[in-house]
Formats: sequence, structure tokens, C-alpha cells
Amino acid sequence: MSDSDPNCLFCKIVTGHIPSTRIYETETLLAFKDIHPQAPFHCLVIPKAHRATLNDFEPEDEQLIGSMLLAAKRIAADASLPGYRVAMNVGREGGQVVFHAHLHVLGGRPLASALG
Ligand code: AMP
Ligand code: ZN
Repeated sequence: MSDSDPNCLFCKIVTGHIPSTRIYETETLLAFKDIHPQAPFHCLVIPKAHRATLNDFEPEDEQLIGSMLLAAKRIAADASLPGYRVAMNVGREGGQVVFHAHLHVLGGRPLASALG
């Protein structure tokens, strides 16, 4: 599997060809502010390697996907969020619009408990 897709918006954010407000970065992942925030705090955590959806992660990506969740925890702590939501949309039917897998990290206001 190629680790970068030249037509992918978030791959272009990884390379810097499309600007973003980066808030956290490691060798393997990147977090940046969502351009249309749904809450006072809203960022996206992505693997630097292109994976279109969660369904494209393989068992050998276990560490990568785990590191994305731990990054969310760290980002929330750095932003002093007392509570927050981590969400991932998977596939068009799951509400996914950008096909480079990403976690949403939302906070800064009370979030309703209902999903959907
Ligand atoms: P999803 O529906 O889970 O695919 O969410 C895609 C998210 O990407 C949306 O919340 C968009 O606001 C966000 N988004 C789209 N383009 C950009 C961009 N250039 N920089 C930051 N966030 C973006
Ligand atoms: Zn990509």
C-alpha cells in the first residue's frame, strides 16, 4: 500500500502543500485544527501514512492506531479539556467526507451524550 496519495487533501496537509494549524506532531502522526470547528476545540488526528478509512488499517498498524488515541488524550490534556469526544467517521454511510482516516477531538463545551 502506498503511504501517500498525491490526490489526497490530508496527505497534502502532511507535506505542507496545503496549510494547516498544526497542534501536535510525531514521526507517524499529525494533529491540526479542523477548518470548520463543531465545538470551541476541534482538531483532527491523522496518520502521516495514507489510510483511506479505518477499514484500511491492518494488524501491523495496531501501534499506529493506538498512538492516535493516545495523541488525542495528550492534546486534550494540553488544551486543559475537562472532557472531550473522540470520533471517527468510517465510509460515506458513516459520515466520512475526507478519505484519509482521522480522529475528531472535540471539546470546550458540554457535549450531548447521544450519538448520531
Ligand atoms: P469527516 O466527515 O469525518 O470526513 O470530516 C472531515 C473533516 O475535515 C471536517 O470536519 C472538515 O471540516 C475538515 N476539513 C476539511 N478540509 C480541511 C482542511 N483543509 N483543514 C482542516 N480541516 C479540514
Ligand atoms: Zn491521504
